[in-house]
Amino acid sequence: MPDLHWFRRDLRIDDNPALAAAGPDAVAVFIHDPRLAGVGRVRQDYLDAAIKELNTQRPLLRRHGEPGAELLALARESGARRVYCAGDSTPFAARRDDAVEAVLAAHGIELRRIDSPFAVPPGELRTQAGAGFRVFTPFYKAWIARGWGPAGPPVATNAARARWEEFRTTRLSRYQQDRDFPDIPATSRLSAALHFGQIHPRTILSQIPDPTTDPFARQLAWREFCAEVLWQRPDAVWASLDRRFDTHMQYSDNEDHFQAWTQGRTGYPFVDAGMRQLLAEGWMHNRLRMVTASFLVKDLHLPWQKGARWFLEHLVDADVANNQIGWQWVAGCGTDAAPYFRIFNPVVQGRRFDPDGHYIRRYVPELAHLDDPHEPGIFAGDYPPPLVDHRRERDVALSRFQALPPK
Ligand SMILES: Cc1cc2nc3c(=O)[nH]c(=O)nc-3n(C[C@H](O)[C@H](O)[C@H](O)COP(=O)(O)OP(=O)(O)OC[C@H]3O[C@@H](n4cnc5c(N)ncnc54)[C@H](O)[C@@H]3O)c2cc1C
Repeated sequence: MPDLHWFRRDLRIDDNPALAAAGPDAVAVFIHDPRLAGVGRVRQDYLDAAIKELNTQRPLLRRHGEPGAELLALARESGARRVYCAGDSTPFAARRDDAVEAVLAAHGIELRRIDSPFAVPPGELRTQAGAGFRVFTPFYKAWIARGWGPAGPPVATNAARARWEEFRTTRLSRYQQDRDFPDIPATSRLSAALHFGQIHPRTILSQIPDPTTDPFARQLAWREFCAEVLWQRPDAVWASLDRRFDTHMQYSDNEDHFQAWTQGRTGYPFVDAGMRQLLAEGWMHNRLRMVTASFLVKDLHLPWQKGARWFLEHLVDADVANNQIGWQWVAGCGTDAAPYFRIFNPVVQGRRFDPDGHYIRRYVPELAHLDDPHEPGIFAGDYPPPLVDHRRERDVALSRFQALPPK
């Protein structure tokens, strides 16, 4: 009897150990779980396209419903004794998979979780004292030292592999110099493909000449670090890792400020350009993710969770580990966070990383005719005056931080 392969965040046939273990005759299935129906439109569209592409390479059934019940029904229809899937360690996925495993086991069917969306699965690396890593640099060293297995042989190409190939051959060598400049197409834009497993990081790492020193491989390690932190602390999805930020920090509840931030109408051109890129493309450059997140938390004094939710709803690459840990890093409440006093100045950031103002002009057309589109408050037209005074709010943020009780 053929077994089942349950596709989730491993939407590829290449270098997919769980799919290989299920065997060529396995019945492949993707289950649309109604609990995930609230995700943003762009992400949903991306997922649909990814499934469509996969279906041309490995025909798969699509089901809607609770995964345990759907898999049980399929296994009964086909007589399958095993369901294979790639492991997934987010708090939601871990709970779901444990529940599915129990439902299937009650009927004598085994759920086999093989591999993970990471080169080194969360939970595998340990400090000398036997604890999990909470700080990136030692994690990174241990990650490099451990290494990862070889990539599986290429079977078929897909859009993600083609994108990686194009990036590898044309931009990888300049990644470090250019990656912070949002107007340069210098980054891989593989985040959604990595999230949905259209390409495995192992495949990428196997094609980087020296991944132990390569800056792009280091960013992949950040992805693995975020997953590791969330694996250790599943509560970090919505709770600040530094609890003082939930129990003692003074926050604003100004809904108008939040709305202005979401719509790219804060009056700070670089921030607004980032937020408008998110609305227009469902993606935002990493530099802008940091600057806009910092603005929400440290200039508007809104809780990071509010901004993180907006990102999750609008990003095509919305990823609970990268997003929540990224937000906590910026907010200063993560395990390995930017020091709270390092507050991004949105104008200085714009001048430094968008020196000619091309990025601002592209996303904030009201300012397109200005020689210098960086300065807030100089253009009266339809573009709003600055919502707040950055220098003043910086002091407010610092004094609120200093008022927190000691750790
Ligand atoms: C506030 C905030 C929210 C974020 N939310 C998300 C999110 O929801 N989903 C997401 O995938 N990334 C998130 N990131 C990380 C990073 O911004 C994106 O991964 C990156 O911008 C995606 O573009 P790229 O694929 O061109 O990246 P590249 O520069 O080409 O990097 C290659 C890959 O490395 C990983 N990566 C790069 N930077 C980081 C990082 N700082 N942390 C973790 N992984 C990284 C990503 O998988 C990325 O695709 C967030 C960062 C911040 C500061």
